[in-house]
Amino acid sequence: MGDITFAVAAKKKNKKLICTYTDLKGNTCGKTFVGYPNSKYCKYHRNAKHREVAKKEIILDITTFKFKHTYETPTEIIRHCDLEGCDNEYKMTLYPEQVEYARYCEHHRNPYKRGRHLAKLEEKKNESV
Ligand SMILES: [Zn+2]
Ligand SMILES: [Zn+2]
Repeated sequence: MGDITFAVAAKKKNKKLICTYTDLKGNTCGKTFVGYPNSKYCKYHRNAKHREVAKKEIILDITTFKFKHTYETPTEIIRHCDLEGCDNEYKMTLYPEQVEYARYCEHHRNPYKRGRHLAKLEEKKNESV
């Protein structure tokens, strides 16, 4: 469904992106930055030292994140799916009064699909060892 859109979008460079870094309490950084389509984190969080390693169980159940922004008109931005190993992008519209937004790509808003994705990821890891 959305995969074609994502592939096309990935060819464009330097887009307005949003940092997907989420700390152990489920707070997402949410800083907007301009970067290459495959960057998931803002400049600060690209440094691994600035990222706590989150426990999957804690953050997986939280399907939204709070993002306090200063946009006064609805603004469309591109965000990466928060799920480990998923590089899907999705468009998200920021609304002035709204602070809560979806963390996962359209595909992974379904908990069953998130579970399957992670199970596959685990399998791959085991294979490559
Ligand atoms: Zn960040
Ligand atoms: Zn995803």
